[in-house]
Amino acid sequence: MIERPFHTPGKAADGGLLSSPKLNTPPDTAVVVGASLAGLMSALALSRLGLHVTVLERSDRKSRTGAALEVSEGLLERLTGRHANAGTTVLPTGAQAWTDVHAGLRSAAEADPNICIRSPVRVAFVDQDERGAWVVAEDGQVVSGDIVVGADGHASVVRRHVAPERPDAKFAGYLIWLGLVNEQLIRSRPWPSQLAILYERDYCLNAYYLPGAGGTFAVGKRRIGWGWYDAGQNDLLRTSGCLVGDVVQRTIRPDRIPASTFEKLAAEARQIWPDPWREAILHCIERREVIGTPVAEYMPERLARGRVCLVGDAAHVPSPMTGKGFAASAQDALALAEALKREMLASGVADALGRYEGKRLKAARDLVLSGQSFSHSFARN
Ligand SMILES: Cc1cc2nc3c(=O)[nH]c(=O)nc-3n(C[C@H](O)[C@H](O)[C@H](O)COP(=O)(O)OP(=O)(O)OC[C@H]3O[C@@H](n4cnc5c(N)ncnc54)[C@H](O)[C@@H]3O)c2cc1C
Repeated sequence: MIERPFHTPGKAADGGLLSSPKLNTPPDTAVVVGASLAGLMSALALSRLGLHVTVLERSDRKSRTGAALEVSEGLLERLTGRHANAGTTVLPTGAQAWTDVHAGLRSAAEADPNICIRSPVRVAFVDQDERGAWVVAEDGQVVSGDIVVGADGHASVVRRHVAPERPDAKFAGYLIWLGLVNEQLIRSRPWPSQLAILYERDYCLNAYYLPGAGGTFAVGKRRIGWGWYDAGQNDLLRTSGCLVGDVVQRTIRPDRIPASTFEKLAAEARQIWPDPWREAILHCIERREVIGTPVAEYMPERLARGRVCLVGDAAHVPSPMTGKGFAASAQDALALAEALKREMLASGVADALGRYEGKRLKAARDLVLSGQSFSHSFARN
């Protein structure tokens, strides 16, 4: 389906932007680029204000294997303004697997009549004038709204419009190997606490229990997630094309990880990591159920420009070692909706997005900075 902008973006004969009655009116429509966690949370928060939200997502592939997120109590209710009732979507709280959080947010967004998710649509370009903003997809379709929200992750296309002077997140100098396994497949005694953060040789291991089927935390029925920080794989990232210059291109998947790398990781794991984490890691390595995500970082100077703004990893990329990227994305979504409330819009949409930036920029910079202190001590070139 080809969708045209609600107006024809253009310039007046003197080169100035065309004036329009929409200038200071409240926004009715938003385009969100990216249907991952930050995009879905922003769509839900904007729908709460009565906006019609079109979410554009380039792919259906979701594989943040093993990553764990902390979901605060009542988050979905704060985003939607609705209380959870029987029959409505419930977002599990506490430490959760990335895929479960995504599934919960996705089903809440799909049930919302103000939100339309379109996929696959890969956005190539963003622009705006005084009357509106629009995205152009790779297939040529144009989708416009009163605002555009970039929730398109660390390699954001929307960031090129908002911060063209510094558009790219930079490689932080290390990767994380990630895996996930059902606890019932692991024979070793359980770890005495929910989470372990261990340092050995040049490595760091974060390992944790995640709920099993039906959300249970019963011993033996949980899942074990692990993230192994490794700064010794930068050559592999370059030769596999996952890293070009200092810009991260993609995660390395099991079929691109050489057998010799798996063997070396298995040998290291046997020597240095204690059970049950050792057994969980070896289980994943034997089955080739491991991915390696190069870590990127982005320190923002700005979060908004005119009618276009950034949320989540498009806005700020802290090291995963902070464990706060998801919480920061939720704060972005809530702050964006607060700034766009009707009673706050007397001075126009661009001013509202400027207020959003004022509310979130310092906290986002502080978060990235806190991750950089780990990265600087850990990374290798
Ligand atoms: C390995 C790893 C471990 C992590 N661990 C933690 C943790 O323990 N705790 C924590 O709080 N946070 C963690 N994070 C961070 C956290 O996952 C993110 O901060 C949070 O999920 C917000 O992500 P996002 O939605 O902004 O971006 P993403 O999840 O990257 O989503 C971006 C979306 O935009 C889509 N997209 C991209 N470009 C386009 C385009 N041109 N057109 C259309 N769609 C597009 C993508 O397909 C994707 O769906 C981790 C991150 C990583 C990488």
